[in-house]
Amino acid sequence: MHKVAEEFKLETNYINGEWVKADSGETFDVDNPATGEIIGTVPMCGEAETKRAVEAAHEAFKTFRKTSVKDRANMLRKLRDLIIKNQEALAQLLVAEQGKPIAEARGEVSFSASYVMWFAEEARRVYGETIPSPWPERRMMVTKEPVGVVGAITPWNFPSSMLARKIAPAVATGCTIVCKPAEATPYSGIVWGKMCELAGIPAGVVNILTGDPIEIGKELTGNPLVKKITFTGSTRVGKILMSQSIPTVKKISMEMGGNAPFIVFDDADIDAAIQGAMASKYRNSGQTCVCTNRLYVQAGIHDEFVKKFAKASADMKVGLANDEGVLQGPLINEAAVKKTEEFVADAVAKGGKIETGGKRHALGHGFFEPTVISGATLEMDFSKDETFAPIAPVYKFKTEEEAIHMANDTEFGLACYFYTKDLGRTFRVMEGLEYGLVGVNEGVITAVEAPFGGFKQSGVGKEGGHQGIQDYLEEKYVCIGGLGV
Ligand code: ADP
Repeated sequence: MHKVAEEFKLETNYINGEWVKADSGETFDVDNPATGEIIGTVPMCGEAETKRAVEAAHEAFKTFRKTSVKDRANMLRKLRDLIIKNQEALAQLLVAEQGKPIAEARGEVSFSASYVMWFAEEARRVYGETIPSPWPERRMMVTKEPVGVVGAITPWNFPSSMLARKIAPAVATGCTIVCKPAEATPYSGIVWGKMCELAGIPAGVVNILTGDPIEIGKELTGNPLVKKITFTGSTRVGKILMSQSIPTVKKISMEMGGNAPFIVFDDADIDAAIQGAMASKYRNSGQTCVCTNRLYVQAGIHDEFVKKFAKASADMKVGLANDEGVLQGPLINEAAVKKTEEFVADAVAKGGKIETGGKRHALGHGFFEPTVISGATLEMDFSKDETFAPIAPVYKFKTEEEAIHMANDTEFGLACYFYTKDLGRTFRVMEGLEYGLVGVNEGVITAVEAPFGGFKQSGVGKEGGHQGIQDYLEEKYVCIGGLGV
């Protein structure tokens, strides 16, 4: 058993303020993707436990919705302080079950704390409206109310911060929430239950359960007591949850897949572009939905860019998360490594040239070499599919129009990046790209202050920013009549 998981007693689930096992007593294993070692077990819950959690959240909502916003903001401040106090332990949990380098793990925990603080602050700015009335004897206003019980399903790539973006706005607005973290990284999810308990958030407000994703997902989407589903993960699963939410007409917030293009124009600062590409491509070993998936480089600087980028990729230290200087950890599991090999084989078969990397890393397990492939073409699989891997295909282009067209030629529309020093081009390209997040001369742009969300099949709704709290609120129009003239 991992020492942090043991310290916080994370081998059970948090339902209605109690720490419980699955009804069947069944568990599943949690492993370390860098070593293959089993670090512990968690409950294998299903429909019955989910139903109980939803009912507890429904009961808790009746009183929690009436708490003062000041009290809720204070609970969130306390939660934020606890996260910061336990930052190292929480980062070590991420290292153990997710494999990301320790600096990235600490960064993720600190990002979680920032989200909690942001929503503690935003909670107090949920303003309504008064409307000039067309009737002299009536007054009109709009008030905002919490939507109710929220069902949340999160992925393994940011097991801490993806829950922060859902738990914090739920608590801020007076909603209650039932969360299902990903199977690969359950401890970083369950520990939210521990932190919420220590922060004094009332029983039933935040519930965390682990287990069978299909059963839990069906209950969360099918139960009429759940009023909203919020999901971060693949477009495939997001679509399943959207369709399952139709019969009970739930509100939905979906953060789904990306296929981020990274465009470098001839007039760009090449070294800045390389730095941005490294950060944007290899963060979390390429396993983020905003990671660069495709690099488009203009003909005039193409060869120089490829050479420098391949060298920077080859020089990057791959290894165990806690080792000094490591910038790249393992992929999450064997299936991810196999899929990466397939992308590379497909590209090579279609004429791509491996500039560096291209195979499993000598460290074994989930490790894969940072890989740069030049001569990429639209026929290659990674042109359409999200790779979620440390592979960087480089496409050569000639004109601005061509770059915009190729960048948009995907069903996804989450993040995109481009590098140029030309002001006119900055606006033309920014306006031409069909994406929810645009980095201009920057490779990492996510911030709690800004709205995060995709166009097209990348998602519905926004998380973070002042927009992020609105998805947890209903607007109620009230007309008061008979007031006299
Ligand atoms: P990823 O590619 O990041 O693993 P997934 O979309 O497969 O993304 O997983 C994201 C989350 O969705 C995880 O918590 C996973 O357990 C959950 N999930 C997977 N399949 C289903 C399903 N059929 N119903 C509900 N949740 C699911």
